[in-house]
Amino acid sequence: MIVTRFAPSPTGYLHLGHAYSALFAEAQARKADGRFLLRIEDIDTARCRPEYEAAIIEDLSWLGLKWDGSIRRQSDHTDDYQAALSRLERMGVTYPCFCSRKEIAAAASAPHGPVRVYPGTCRNRTPQDRFDRILAGQPYAVRLNVEAGLARTGPLAWQDRIAGIVPATPEREGDPVIARRDTPTSYHLSVTVDDHLQGITLVTRGEDLFAATHVHRLLQGLLGYETPEYHHHPLLKNVDGVRLSKRDGAVAVRALRERGSRSDEVRAMCSWPTASTP
Ligand code: GLU
Repeated sequence: MIVTRFAPSPTGYLHLGHAYSALFAEAQARKADGRFLLRIEDIDTARCRPEYEAAIIEDLSWLGLKWDGSIRRQSDHTDDYQAALSRLERMGVTYPCFCSRKEIAAAASAPHGPVRVYPGTCRNRTPQDRFDRILAGQPYAVRLNVEAGLARTGPLAWQDRIAGIVPATPEREGDPVIARRDTPTSYHLSVTVDDHLQGITLVTRGEDLFAATHVHRLLQGLLGYETPEYHHHPLLKNVDGVRLSKRDGAVAVRALRERGSRSDEVRAMCSWPTASTP
């Protein structure tokens, strides 16, 4: 059975791009007689707000979306992420990273201009060095050692409904953070664990998250999870061809409601030709 999900982060109001993504996920489930689940991704306590969560759920209902079963809220499930993190740590494919954002930016930008990926500063620290820093109370995040992970899993790939069979190349993304300083998880880890625990068979999400799937595929391989099928859909753009963002308050579903739009009108705004399904 096809099981899809919509997984918003309550860091702002639902905008048209999210609404499109939610409607898309629901449609994929409904046309296959499957299930559509809703998950609230609220592990980032600094940015997520309960009022945004309530508003997102209300706007989704107003749009006429119907999800199956109860809503999974990530902040209620830190034990699941901690368990997965401990398994990865026991495999020896993680390491503590003591770098501050500033240090990473400085190391990554020298000498040939900025690069996006973590330069690996903490990967080869000695056990003694790590021990001393932890004992001294230095805060640290946990990173996945991609090379060590791939050495365990061997080559990996996933099936994408648009891109076809995609060989996983997580090494191009650098060693990702899988647990942040303040929480035993990160976006990459919790999304992978949740998709597994919720039995998601088809992950539909915006093409801006395509690169993240390389990391998720490696985590699935290490944790022994089944790999869902993926469909990274194009993003809704405004008339200038710029992708919609939360900062673009004008396209918040809430704002359209307040200006008197009906839900069928807003749904119609989310069915651009780029939104066509295969
Ligand atoms: N929570 C993520 C976001 O709002 C989406 C995660 C996903 O679909 O995998 O961007």
